[in-house]
Amino acid sequence: MQNTIFKNSIKGKRGVKFPDSGVAEKSLNDIIPENYLRKSDLNLPELTQLEVERYFTNLSHKNFSVDTVFYPLGSCTMKHNPKINEKVAGFEGFTEIHPQQGEEYSQGALELMYELQESLKEITGMDAVSLQPAAGAQGEFAGMLIVKKYFETLGQKRTKVIIPDSAHGTNPASAKMCGFDIVEVKSNSKGQVDTEALKCLLNNDVAAIMMTNPNTLGLFEEEILKISEMAKEHGILLYYDGANLNAIMGITNPKLMGFDIVHINLHKTFSTPHGGGGPGAGPIGVNEKLADYLPVPVIDYDGEKYYFNYELKNSIGKVKAYYGNFGIFIRAYTYILMMGGKGLRKVSEDAVLNANYLKEKLKNHYKLPFDQICMHEFVLSGDIQKAQGVNTLGIAKKLMDYGVHPPTIYFPLIVHEALMIEPTETETKEILDNFINIMENIATEIKEKPEQVLNSPVSTPVSRIDETLAARKPVLKYNL
Ligand SMILES: *Cc1c(COP(=O)(O)O)cnc(C)c1O
Repeated sequence: MQNTIFKNSIKGKRGVKFPDSGVAEKSLNDIIPENYLRKSDLNLPELTQLEVERYFTNLSHKNFSVDTVFYPLGSCTMKHNPKINEKVAGFEGFTEIHPQQGEEYSQGALELMYELQESLKEITGMDAVSLQPAAGAQGEFAGMLIVKKYFETLGQKRTKVIIPDSAHGTNPASAKMCGFDIVEVKSNSKGQVDTEALKCLLNNDVAAIMMTNPNTLGLFEEEILKISEMAKEHGILLYYDGANLNAIMGITNPKLMGFDIVHINLHKTFSTPHGGGGPGAGPIGVNEKLADYLPVPVIDYDGEKYYFNYELKNSIGKVKAYYGNFGIFIRAYTYILMMGGKGLRKVSEDAVLNANYLKEKLKNHYKLPFDQICMHEFVLSGDIQKAQGVNTLGIAKKLMDYGVHPPTIYFPLIVHEALMIEPTETETKEILDNFINIMENIATEIKEKPEQVLNSPVSTPVSRIDETLAARKPVLKYNL
């Protein structure tokens, strides 16, 4: 294991040496009031420049990233981030502007945001878009605030939001944070919303149904039109979690499926880097009747200039400083322009093809609970391997020794020992075949010598940790 930078420190070493200033030295006590002065020395590591450089460069090589390894992290859409996105985001005209400098000096930036709104309208089919929310989860939160305000404006008291048992955890969390009670609807034997069960839950207390389509099992909700019909009969709004938009671009859209509100994860579908809590963007789109509930500002165009529109009658207000994560907008917009309409459709087709290829090969070695054509991802179960002595966590850890980022595990909750695999469209057949080989090897190893697999990972800086202990008694400070 690499020493921490503190361990490598040797007193007196310096990275930068300054020449004498030629100004007489003064004591800090003469300049700064006593109570602001530090009482003991700062504990800073002391190293040469080259040592610091090697330390951080080596650390960066320990990262698992899309740029270094295959990263089939289901639901997260870890696709290739084209470097042209970064290049455009680095243009001086974008990096040297300030949010306070005024519309007349920011027309280019405003035009980009306007055009991005327009593109997202076309891709989702929705009538109006606000770029404000900073992530998918915040898009959901903004969407739920819109639902709440909409019914308040109508003078209706609706307290419930219906969410499928396969949903991403942020869905119930967002609705709950807006004060709604969560009602769970079960999935049927095909892994889709059980419409009979749903029917029994529908009444005038229900404000919204939140759905992901394709859902978190990677399956298209075949009865979506019936569901939206049922919702409309009760005046219920339909919310679309757009995290899985990568599967349907240019083929269908949430509007055609009957949805009223949509969030889009620019950092997933539109190839901007994410992970490790990095910046994201979760714009929301709505249909016409909800357009003036959007968070402000939205960007409008009067035929001559672009401007921030704060004048939406029923707006839920702001959910983010200024107008959202501008750097992410540039990357996503660059990607959209580069791909074009046909290119985006091809993205979805290839993502679906890649996922089905993997699924068909891997089902020979792992249990596939829902054996159907999938969309851009699919969910295996590690039940067979668990019975042989290694659970899904063990499979994930073993994959790290093969230099692959593990898939999403233990989600969705309705599949035992779940392994949720999303290859994305940007991987080649050779990479997919290599992953298939690795997964086959692991299945064989578990069958023959499960105890060997249990030690994994052995190639990483930290091996197996006691996750319960780490969660209950975290040691966050390195003991110097
Ligand atoms: C990623 C994801 C979210 C949350 O999006 P963030 O941008 O991470 O906040 C919500 N739902 C689904 C299905 C997701 O995959």
